[in-house]
Amino acid sequence: MPRRTPISTIAPAPDAGAPTTAGPAAPPPESAPAQPAWRLDIAVQTPAHAALGDLLSYAGAVPLVPGTLVRVPLGRREVLGVVWNTPTSLDGAEPDMALKPVGAALDALTPLGEAWRDLVAFAARYYQRSIGEIALAALPPQLRDLTTTQLARRLKRKTTTGPVAQTAEAANLIALSPEQTAALAHIEAESGTFLLVGSTGSGKTEVYLRCVADLLARDPEAQALVMVPEINLTPQLEARFKARFGDEAVVSLHSGMTNPQRLASWLAAHSGAARIVLGTRMAVFASIPGLKLIVVDEEHDPSYKQQEGARYSARDLAVWRGQREGAKVILGSATPSLESWHQSRPAEGDDPGGRYVRLEMPSRIGAGELPAVRLVDMNLQPPKTVLSGALLDAIGQRIARGEQSMIFLNRRGYAPVLACGDCGWKSECPHCSAYRVFHKIDRTLRCHHCGFTERVPRACPACGNPDIAPVGRGTERLEEHLAELFAAVKRPDGSAVRIARIDADSTKKQGALESQLAAVHAGEVDVLVGTQMIAKGHDFRRITLVAAVNPDGALFSSDFRAPERLFSLLMQSAGRAGRDATYLAAQGATAEMWIQTFHSQHPLFMALRKHDYATFAKQQLDERQAAAMPPFAFQALLRADAREQSVAQAFLNMAADAAEALPGADIVTRYPAVPLSIQRVANVERAQMLIESPSRAALQRLLASWQPLLHELRRTPEGKGVIRWLVDVDPHSI
Ligand code: ADP
Ligand code: ZN
Ligand code: ZN
Repeated sequence: MPRRTPISTIAPAPDAGAPTTAGPAAPPPESAPAQPAWRLDIAVQTPAHAALGDLLSYAGAVPLVPGTLVRVPLGRREVLGVVWNTPTSLDGAEPDMALKPVGAALDALTPLGEAWRDLVAFAARYYQRSIGEIALAALPPQLRDLTTTQLARRLKRKTTTGPVAQTAEAANLIALSPEQTAALAHIEAESGTFLLVGSTGSGKTEVYLRCVADLLARDPEAQALVMVPEINLTPQLEARFKARFGDEAVVSLHSGMTNPQRLASWLAAHSGAARIVLGTRMAVFASIPGLKLIVVDEEHDPSYKQQEGARYSARDLAVWRGQREGAKVILGSATPSLESWHQSRPAEGDDPGGRYVRLEMPSRIGAGELPAVRLVDMNLQPPKTVLSGALLDAIGQRIARGEQSMIFLNRRGYAPVLACGDCGWKSECPHCSAYRVFHKIDRTLRCHHCGFTERVPRACPACGNPDIAPVGRGTERLEEHLAELFAAVKRPDGSAVRIARIDADSTKKQGALESQLAAVHAGEVDVLVGTQMIAKGHDFRRITLVAAVNPDGALFSSDFRAPERLFSLLMQSAGRAGRDATYLAAQGATAEMWIQTFHSQHPLFMALRKHDYATFAKQQLDERQAAAMPPFAFQALLRADAREQSVAQAFLNMAADAAEALPGADIVTRYPAVPLSIQRVANVERAQMLIESPSRAALQRLLASWQPLLHELRRTPEGKGVIRWLVDVDPHSI
């Protein structure tokens, strides 16, 4: 870790030259204002798409070390910046009146290291953003407001480092399964990036814990970064890591923390005091000088891709960072992204294979079987059936035995549309090309895109018919329906059935999710209804049945990644059932995953029935290869928003014309501009253009030289109507 002397003690180096007016020898007295002698290139957060360059130049009296945080004037404000390059001497040069002087340096803080700056610079280049934007977004917000003294005070708070032993609890270690042992041995013996493909409940987390333990025991300075896709999975993981390594060694980093908490975690990681940093995608940018191991759990999860501002993939950056810093990277999943699966293919014939080492753990711990998958053909059910009779029976039996069931429906609210049967009125959002969702609990119509909310009208706003009705079904309505259906069923102790719902609406209040999950774990819930929030990660012990009641939408989506996402979501949901083999045996129960579908012969469900990710992946990859789609091609989206769809599209088409002459244009395909699938949100029309190439380098080259042209186009009369434009590299949904 780089150490540095506080700048106040650094005298300008002899060859730096004293200010020309100072005469020979005698440095200026301490109290005299120092003359600027250095030009400093500083990364600051400039407004997005401002025509300013990547770095701004300032003048300083001392050659601040790159990575030093400083305050600098910007417009009428003073902002935080990072010294980016080695300062250049202004010796002998005409004093440049345009250079503003830097403000105070936060010199109590060790400068950010070169590896960190490289990561930021790479991310800026690759995702077409400015260095300052990425750098400043990566720093804890509170750093912007603290004075030098306040910061120094924070830094004085205890920072202990040293070897971290596993705690007493962990000394009582469980014996690893043969598959875990083999995976661990591989990771210990080799370097690079590993794809750990382990069924749900195969003990991947235990493998992460052991890798971290071995690393920390071996290297007293080493640090590990462990990432999870969602905030609500961090408390669980944090508890497991703290139980193993003690409270001191572990810090978390995610957006659900207060600013002081985030600063404290960030400082602990930056100083090396925290040996383990747990976090969501933002944690990939943490300053971790001793980084030797990165774990990306559920690496396929779409949440690793940032969907606004700099649209980075934390998974991909983790792999890059691991390579740059010589840290091992473990990507873990039961259903890897097709990109990672492809990248871990073994060598075959002429194909040298992928760059990742693939490690597989197919068995569940404790010889627990993966749940039996039952497909219910909804074509054979009476019209308008919500839950088939067979499924209801199966859930009813479980309630009677005191087991839990989980029903998964990826649509929150009561009903997706409210409609009038007389005149055909529907609850459209006036500002978006979408329907407002009916929420019965507070009797509102809410737009899930722009947030526009109104009380439910008493009668049809178009014709006055008082009989407006919900169409379709969300989690709220399913919960209500289940309560009616099971009203007569009793639990083993004779008490009434308890049904609970977990989704974004039920968990808005701070701590709500934790208490709802705790209730499930404590066995207080018999039937849990929820969105994908409940499908991920949770280690439920008493759930023996999981059902997906309406998964068909994704089968025929225009988004080529929709089947991949559906498959992994269903596999993950299935993974919530029968996680405790001992419990299953004691109950004499079998774990089941039920799927209600109108397409029971679909190859996706056929593969799911056998828990056969490999077959599903092969079929998808063959299709993608035939159609030259990722991972066999590389994509970016250029998007433009405007008041009129035609204005947005015209901008994109002009941009495409301008790209004609750019380097790489001959091997980069530009598709025609089209409206987004939800074309209008909050009265803004949105259009996009797909850009694709078999060569990632060519695509990158084109994007880099396109950027300045796009800025120019925006200033032309035709471009004036564009509200915003952006580039999304490796977009997730098209
Ligand atoms: P995954 O992350 O693959 O879903 P986990 O690591 O959460 O699986 O393990 C599932 C359960 O099995 C956890 O409760 C964990 O404590 C337990 N477990 C993991 N490895 C072992 C082992 N070797 N022996 C006994 N129990 C284990
Ligand atoms: Zn009407
Ligand atoms: Zn809306």
